[in-house]
Amino acid sequence: MLDILKVNTKKAAQILKQSKHTTAFTGAGISVESGIPPFRGKTGLWSKYDPKILELNYFHQHPEDSWEIIKEIFYDFFGKAQPNKAHKVLAKMEKYNLLQAVITQNIDNLHQAAGSKTVYEFHGTSAKMVCTNCKRKFDSKKVNLENIPPKCIACGGLLKPDFIFLGEGIPVEAYQKSLEEAENAEVFFLIGTTGLVEPAASIPYKAKYNGAVIIEINPERTVFTEKITDIFLQGKAGEVMKQLGEYIFEED
Ligand code: NAD
Repeated sequence: MLDILKVNTKKAAQILKQSKHTTAFTGAGISVESGIPPFRGKTGLWSKYDPKILELNYFHQHPEDSWEIIKEIFYDFFGKAQPNKAHKVLAKMEKYNLLQAVITQNIDNLHQAAGSKTVYEFHGTSAKMVCTNCKRKFDSKKVNLENIPPKCIACGGLLKPDFIFLGEGIPVEAYQKSLEEAENAEVFFLIGTTGLVEPAASIPYKAKYNGAVIIEINPERTVFTEKITDIFLQGKAGEVMKQLGEYIFEED
C-alpha cells in the first residue's frame, strides 16, 4: 500500500533542501516526546494545575502559592527534560545552513539545549528570571529555589520567570524578528502547535501571505492544516523528524 506519510516526508525533504530561507515555528507539541505535556487537552498541565498561578495579579498577591507550583512545573519537572530527535534534527539543519531560525512559543530552552543558535522565544524563557522591581535578569540555574519566593540579590524585589504571564505583552525583539522571518521565509515549518494562541498564531498566516510554502507536523489536524498548510505530515514530531532527517542528510 502507498505510504502517504513517507511520500509527503520525501517531498518535504526535497523542498527543505532547495529552500534558501526556512524558518521553524514550534509549539508545545515538539517537547511532548521529551516528557513535557502541553498546557491544554486531557493530559495537559492545566488539567492538573490552576492556570491562575500565571496571572500577574495573582502572582503579586500570592507569590508563595504561585512559586510553589511554578517551581514544581517549570524547574523541578521541566528542568529534567532533554531535547528529542525533533529538536536535534532542527539544530543539525541549522548547522548545515538548511534552517535560518527557530521561532518557538516554548519556554523550556530545549532548542538551545539541542544546539540551535538562532532561536526567537516568542513567550520568553524559564532559563532566566527577572526582578519585578529593578528588572535585572538572572540565570535560573544560579537562583536558589530552596526558599520561595526567590528574591533579587541586588534590590530584594520579587523574582519572576522570564516568560510571559497571562495578559503580558510579547517580548518586543522576538516579535519583531518573527515578523521579519514571516516576510523572508521561503518555507515555514510548523511543528506541534494548535494555532489557537494569539498573537503567535498570526505569524504563519503572514508567512503564507508573503508566499512561503507551509509544511506542518502534528498528530492532529489543526486550523493551520485546514487553512494554509501545503504539506501535512501527520505524526509525532520526533518520529517524523527522524525520517525527514534521514531523507535530508542521507540521500542525494
Ligand atoms: P499548543 O498550541 O502549543 O498545542 C500543542 C500541540 O501539540 C497540539 O496541536 C497537539 O496536537 C500537538 N502535539 C501533541 N503531541 C505531539 C507530538 N508528539 N508531536 C507533535 N505535536 C504534538 O498549545 P498549548 O499546549 O495549550 O500551549 C499554549 C502555549 O503554552 C503555547 O504557546 C505553548 O508553546 C506554551 N507551552 C509551552 C510548553 C513548553 O515550553 N514545552 C509546554 C506547554 C505549553
